[in-house]
Amino acid sequence: MHYAVLSTGSCGNCYIFHENDKALIIDDGVTFTKLTKGLENHGIPMSDVQAMFITHLHPDHSKGVGVFQRKTKLPVYLSDIAMNGNGDVIEKQKISREELVPYSFGEMIRVDGFTVHPFRTSHDSAGSAGYYIESDDGVRIFLMTDTGVIPDDAAAYAEKADVKFIESNYDENMLENGPYSVQLRRRISGTYGHLSNRCAVDFARRVSHQGDSVYFVHISANCNSPDVLRDYAMKEIPSGIFCRVCERGETFEGFRDAR
Ligand SMILES: [Zn+2]
Ligand SMILES: [Zn+2]
Repeated sequence: MHYAVLSTGSCGNCYIFHENDKALIIDDGVTFTKLTKGLENHGIPMSDVQAMFITHLHPDHSKGVGVFQRKTKLPVYLSDIAMNGNGDVIEKQKISREELVPYSFGEMIRVDGFTVHPFRTSHDSAGSAGYYIESDDGVRIFLMTDTGVIPDDAAAYAEKADVKFIESNYDENMLENGPYSVQLRRRISGTYGHLSNRCAVDFARRVSHQGDSVYFVHISANCNSPDVLRDYAMKEIPSGIFCRVCERGETFEGFRDAR
């Protein structure tokens, strides 16, 4: 499995998974140019892409979807709740509703090369989702971003995953003393907001085993510091678990075989 993060954070999110000439994209909060260049840079032909899955319809995760649909005609999967609860957003982002593929939570979705299990997240965007993905070669990926609290079924998926992408949005002190209004601070730290470093690192520590890889993503530019998060993660997470803080907007890639 070859995986790449084309961008992460409020500036745009896009994650790519590639194995045996089959690729899957999660989220498209980047321009089509950036997406195609990114695929090219990582040696992944667009013709390998089987499908796209969207976590939720905030623009940093979905602003590229409309153009992606028009250019590629590939299936874009979204939860049925997100599809029914975001009419104006879908319109505004010029997403073609007819070409969206809705799924229900609890459903298991099969696309060529991958089996995808969506799970609910807790965010101020109707029908928001995280994903647990099993590749045909047996690599297991967990991706959870934009969630105020950790959903009940997330831990069971995360424990099984070899590679985990976990939102670590804000440092509690930096949020409290940062530039945001009280309302915005309450939104971010609320049940339908984002995950703190403390929650993310604690969760990662609980669900990780020796040999796992953990990537902390969706780092806030204003209320977090990659150094603070890195120091904290290094202190809390046992050695033998590969940990990496993905800075805002950063591109990187990794490789993984099944255990
Ligand atoms: Zn976001
Ligand atoms: Zn969001």
